[in-house]
Amino acid sequence: MDMQVKQPKLGIKERYSLLTRDLGWEPSYQAKEKIFPYTHYEGIKIHDWDKWEDPFRLTMDAYWKYQAEKERKFYAIIDAHAQNNGHLNITDGRYLTAIKLFLQAISPGEYAAHKGFARIGREFEGVGTQVACQMQSLDEIRHAQTQIHAMSNYNKFYNGFHSFADARDRIWYTSVPRSFFDDAMSGGPFEFITAIGFAFEYVLTNLLFVPFMSGAAYNGDMATVTFGFSAQSDEARHMTLGLECIKFMLEQDPDNLPIVQKWLDKWFWRGMRMLTLVGAMMDYMLPKRVMSWKEAWQVYGVENGGALFNDLARYGVRVPKGWDVANEAAEHVSHQLMLGLYQWCFGTSFHAWIPSEEDMAWLSEKYPDTFDRYYRPRWDHIRKMAEAGTPYQNLGLAQLCNTCQLPAVFTEPGDPTTHCHREVEFEGETYHFCSDGCRDIFLEEPQKYVQSWLPMPQLFAEPNFGDVGKWMEWVGLKPGVDNGDYHGSQDEASFEAWKKHQSATA
Ligand code: FE
Ligand code: ZN
Repeated sequence: MDMQVKQPKLGIKERYSLLTRDLGWEPSYQAKEKIFPYTHYEGIKIHDWDKWEDPFRLTMDAYWKYQAEKERKFYAIIDAHAQNNGHLNITDGRYLTAIKLFLQAISPGEYAAHKGFARIGREFEGVGTQVACQMQSLDEIRHAQTQIHAMSNYNKFYNGFHSFADARDRIWYTSVPRSFFDDAMSGGPFEFITAIGFAFEYVLTNLLFVPFMSGAAYNGDMATVTFGFSAQSDEARHMTLGLECIKFMLEQDPDNLPIVQKWLDKWFWRGMRMLTLVGAMMDYMLPKRVMSWKEAWQVYGVENGGALFNDLARYGVRVPKGWDVANEAAEHVSHQLMLGLYQWCFGTSFHAWIPSEEDMAWLSEKYPDTFDRYYRPRWDHIRKMAEAGTPYQNLGLAQLCNTCQLPAVFTEPGDPTTHCHREVEFEGETYHFCSDGCRDIFLEEPQKYVQSWLPMPQLFAEPNFGDVGKWMEWVGLKPGVDNGDYHGSQDEASFEAWKKHQSATA
């Protein structure tokens, strides 16, 4: 009989190093450059991959156990939400516009992040890096799945949820986050991790998740709050990975600094533009508001972001280009985009509405220098048109920015009454931009951005050929049902009827 020898228990650090560093080996019959062909062409120089401190330090075994426990709790709450008609506990049916936007625009971003991290987990040659990216990849697919499951219950009762995957690929406003992730995924591995791991997860994530999750909590949406909690502990790891990748690149070689700075400039601007959708959500779509977009930008952008870039100054990093322009724009962008979403809401898979007097009083208070002066008069005019029976619909197609893919609805820095528009001629074609920031991104890599897939021209392309009805079918939009003003919609009628029934039976 063999002797059973009890092995001494290893500490978490030793187990981790057994898990990671020892997985790597020196290849003997293939050149390293052939196995990892993508880590050089961006120009980033790495001398010692072992210097990458993996902030996750989780064994696969511990990871599965930990995540499985969270899943159990998550699905228990989601089941209870479905069984107890949780969809009636929300403040008002208008709130669902925020959640439809999230499902169509943000959850597919989680899935894109999953694909991207899986890819760079293969492309990076450091073992610690590979393991960290693999775990983040798994986190991201879990986020996509838990979000889709959490929101699927609303799909049983309300319109606008049914075709989120087609909406993600084809409708116009989803092209903003989709093109953001496509841009990152078609960059090299170091640019991807700077874009998603650092600019998005570290610098900007609080401006996305905090508003949506606290908006959900304020408006009685337990399903969304639950996936928010379930994702939160992952986010802490993702943020650490994002910061680590920046420090690693900057510490490995001084030649990396200008490349990293260029990416920070680009991804800060792209991220800020994408978050304009969140700004419109915070200021206009929540029946019970949390804070204004301007306040959120002040806390999470100016203060937290400012502190971060101060800290990174020791590496020679400066605040991203466009920082001051972005800070000033926080006064305006949510109103400018919402006015757009309202006038094109026959082409959205969610409802919009004209802010009430009460809503506008809140906006005046939150934007004392700008709302009454520039935006209230426009809403008043739109209201008059609606009252006269001729609601404002803009049947013209928006000029899209070739970089951020938002309609070019923004104004000149320092002059909120002048529309901002930039043009570039490149190889005989004219390209349009919403800002200097977006134009400069194009100019850095024109060969890349001339390939942008822009959603508006699809109305005239195969299979729609200019037929709006066909286009609606193609994007998964049921006209008169999923789109248009909330007032008079089926969602409004259903919500009011069910609420009445609920309080009558209570
Ligand atoms: Fe995520
Ligand atoms: Zn733009």
